[in-house]
Amino acid sequence: MSEQDCLFCGIVAGSVPAEIVYEDATVIGFRDIAPQAPTHVLVIPRHHITNAAEVEAGDGHVLEAMVLAAQSVAAAEGIAAPDRGFRLVMNVGPDALNSVPHLHLHILGGRAMTWPPG
Ligand code: AMP
Repeated sequence: MSEQDCLFCGIVAGSVPAEIVYEDATVIGFRDIAPQAPTHVLVIPRHHITNAAEVEAGDGHVLEAMVLAAQSVAAAEGIAAPDRGFRLVMNVGPDALNSVPHLHLHILGGRAMTWPPG
């Protein structure tokens, strides 16, 4: 898939609407269109990476930015640990039901989670 065809590249470019809740030079965070928890935010790199299986040596700064963004979003949403807590998920490939081929970190919180996930 080219970046022109990528839904989340469209959100980065501003051509696809999204409720953006976090931005920095490396990543953006926006609300999932079909939330699975009271807080459901996706953090994505501005630069196209297909999924976690395609992360390469040298991409460490991207993963760092994604986790720091998740900390910031969790604090802003009132779900930060240690008092509350949240789940971070990266789906990779068809068995994990990965539906959008642009790396994204799900931040899910605001309710008690169950384990194992389905
Ligand atoms: P995954 O199944 O891990 O690939 O997650 C993709 C996520 O993107 C799903 O939770 C979708 O609900 C979400 N999603 C798809 N299209 C949009 C969109 N236009 N804006 C926000 N979230 C979206």
